[in-house]
Amino acid sequence: MKCHIPDCPDTVYENDLCIFHCPKDDWFDIVDGKKDWSKSQDKVDQFWKLLHLKFSVGDYAYAGYIFPKFNTDCFLSSENLKDFTSPVSLNRAIFLDDALFNACHFKEIVFFDLAKFIGGFNLDSGSFNRVEAGYLLLNGSFNIKNMIFEEKASFNVFISNKIKIDMIGIKILKDFTFSIFDSPMQEIFDHTSQ
Ligand SMILES: [Zn+2]
Repeated sequence: MKCHIPDCPDTVYENDLCIFHCPKDDWFDIVDGKKDWSKSQDKVDQFWKLLHLKFSVGDYAYAGYIFPKFNTDCFLSSENLKDFTSPVSLNRAIFLDDALFNACHFKEIVFFDLAKFIGGFNLDSGSFNRVEAGYLLLNGSFNIKNMIFEEKASFNVFISNKIKIDMIGIKILKDFTFSIFDSPMQEIFDHTSQ
């Protein structure tokens, strides 16, 4: 059976949804205030294995995906670390734990509209050609380190509490806008959870 999200080509994994779109709130326990994913490590491994398979055939349509914890310090695995060569959609994606984009090079546009980062959002030693983040909700820290912004970057960041935003060693070659808003827009993001 096919995932119930319109246009999603993947088969059902849980609750009429594929492994990418299914809610993962029962994949972890809270231990000492942190998310502990050990009870579902197999599921997490399966998620990343299938995601890397998509990446390897140039499928970068990740809209509405709900990401579990990252297994490594990078969205990509070290074996298939290479460039994103066409547009990437992470619109309405939800990152349930720290998101780590180390050494990722986006050669085309990346969309982060309405993406929600529950943990930290870390970008290190990579590059963006164009990045469009119309409404980006941050709940954890945002660290941008040693990144190159080549053409156009537009971040409208909504923060839901006091968070740390660090930008170290970034190189801006053309247009870069970064706006921060307090969270009266919270309700927008509530519609993104599925
Ligand atoms: Zn799906």
